[in-house]
Amino acid sequence: IRDQSIERTKTVCTYCGVGCSFEVWTKERHILKIEPTHGPANGVSTCIKGKFSWDHINSDERLTTPLIREGDRFRPASWEEALSLIARKFTETREKYGPDALAFIASSKCTNEDSWLMQKLARAVIGTNNVDNCSRYCQSPATMGLWRTVGYGGDSGSITDLEQAGLVIGIGTNTAESHPVLATRVKRAHKLRGQRLIVADLREHEMAQRADLFVQPKPATDFVWLTAVTKFILDEGLEDKAFISQWVNDLDEYRQSIERYTLAYAEEVTGIPEATLRQIAQEIVQADGTCIMWAMGVTQQCGGSETSTAISNLLLVTGNYMRPGAGSYPLRGHNNVQGASDMGAMPAFVGGYQKVDDPEVRAKFEAKWGAPLPTTKGLDNHEMVHAVHDGTLRVMYLKGEEMAIVDSNVNYVDEAFEKLDFFVVQDIFFTRTAQFADVVLPASPSLEKDGTFTNTERRIQRLYKALDPLGDSKPDWEIIQMVANALGADWNYRHPSEIMDEIASLVPLYAGVNYERLEGFKSLQWPVLPDGSDTPLLFTEGFPFPDGKARLYPAEFIPPLEVATAEYDLHFNNGRMLEHFHEGNMTFKSPGVSSKVPGTFVEVSPELAAERGLESGRFVRLVSRHGAIRVPVVVTSRVQGKQLYMPMNTQDAHQAVNRLTGSHTDLSTHTPAYKDTAVRMEIL
Ligand code: SF4
Repeated sequence: IRDQSIERTKTVCTYCGVGCSFEVWTKERHILKIEPTHGPANGVSTCIKGKFSWDHINSDERLTTPLIREGDRFRPASWEEALSLIARKFTETREKYGPDALAFIASSKCTNEDSWLMQKLARAVIGTNNVDNCSRYCQSPATMGLWRTVGYGGDSGSITDLEQAGLVIGIGTNTAESHPVLATRVKRAHKLRGQRLIVADLREHEMAQRADLFVQPKPATDFVWLTAVTKFILDEGLEDKAFISQWVNDLDEYRQSIERYTLAYAEEVTGIPEATLRQIAQEIVQADGTCIMWAMGVTQQCGGSETSTAISNLLLVTGNYMRPGAGSYPLRGHNNVQGASDMGAMPAFVGGYQKVDDPEVRAKFEAKWGAPLPTTKGLDNHEMVHAVHDGTLRVMYLKGEEMAIVDSNVNYVDEAFEKLDFFVVQDIFFTRTAQFADVVLPASPSLEKDGTFTNTERRIQRLYKALDPLGDSKPDWEIIQMVANALGADWNYRHPSEIMDEIASLVPLYAGVNYERLEGFKSLQWPVLPDGSDTPLLFTEGFPFPDGKARLYPAEFIPPLEVATAEYDLHFNNGRMLEHFHEGNMTFKSPGVSSKVPGTFVEVSPELAAERGLESGRFVRLVSRHGAIRVPVVVTSRVQGKQLYMPMNTQDAHQAVNRLTGSHTDLSTHTPAYKDTAVRMEIL
């Protein structure tokens, strides 16, 4: 007999860019179970996080009321008092120093509607383009590489299309841990359908162990082997001539730019033997469709944009676009990396990647919003930190981002936060970042609000409120609306669906999106035309350039800025672990998960362990040019030689990976070069 007090609510997982759907069973505030259902991205499964990591919802540590700093302490405050203080400080700063003395950080953990209002607050209410989101920390270089070559920054096909590829190549992606359900599709196609799998990575993770061919290039050299393989294919006349002739520009210029990337040069730089590179080239040209997946092992380097460009160049030369089972898959980390950027929470673009310096674009938004828009590009996350140190940025409003753990060089970030005149942090917990705040606003997690997320394959899906907000917490969009109105705006959104209607009216990529078309498990992949037809395969009739042709973009190898030396003799790699999400503010609060993986560790190769007399469990001190941490060792053959690997997931700031990373970035996008880090190891 069905218990009538049990509610079943459809929602979307918040833990990665795959965007698995499921129903959450609740009774009052108790979460009884998560039931994976036939979501378009996941079929019928979830991973451990999606299934079991929801205890944070009812955690005693949830913020349930606004907090205001008094000296070294915080006291509870009413919403009226907190909003009044924020409005006064924002207004004073804008009047005294101008609108660009304020900055806003949206979150790729939050909904599209939350991000939309954050950038609207920055632009239409304050008058600054100083707005960004945490995709700056991960996939901006992939987007840059795709913009240069094929015009759109998203996955070129659907997750399900991966199963149709004859060959899947994974580069710098620990897919089985970072995008588990997507990895399941590749594993299934590999095992059951004979799909070929090539993995290039520093670390022998699960996908590498399953691969038909696993290569371990030297750190930050993927660009070189990719470009050498492309050159070899062209030199041997193995390119897809018909595809290039019809759909690709700039072949001659591109060929000239890659002259020096011979197989011999690539072997010298990357360490991958020439014969292996030849084999990779043959595998690609012989495969019935090649998909390349890549993630932060590529993007979080000084040359992340260049390597992403090289990936797309290789796909173009071999005709691997414009059909299912072929194309580019830059795997988005957070659940709404794609959406937060689509919404224009970026300093150079309003929604849908429309440029802020385009007068026609601004006029369209100004007419709708009834306010003038700032005309020049604002600061990105990375530039904001420097601007606080310089004294030109004085106030920040940040939501849903544990910046004091996940930004690179957190010692430098800490110093910046100390210098701010006024800092507002909006989150579901009193995070480490919140400790630097002047006002902390209590937000609601995904199970307590309606909205939409856009996953890695550009798929827009609805989430539905399963529980009422805890205490006096509120959905982010409601809080931002309250802040805007306290500053004199007159916003009257009653539901996120009304925000989406506004988005659809201003953003061509979302033109046909509305909540009715997303009802239940229905979803849409952008671009969505006004009639509601969507685009599972991104390129079908050419590319979004004036002549419809893609562009081969000239090659430029950018070596890492920080390399191993006699003093810092070990390369320090870092990434995610399966069981935890990001800094772990949410997943470490689920005892069933955190008891299995209670903390972080550093992986050390057996040969390095033997050389230094180390065994698993021993604590070491890792020291970089930027800071030091103390962490236990796990000896494993997943890493080799002088490579170290450490998961970024920790709540202990003293063990944060980013005590070690520096402020150097991808040169084109300012994504931190987390992976270009050298350390020394001291045995404790
Ligand atoms: Fe799916 Fe990713 Fe959530 Fe796992 S973490 S359930 S793969 S969306």
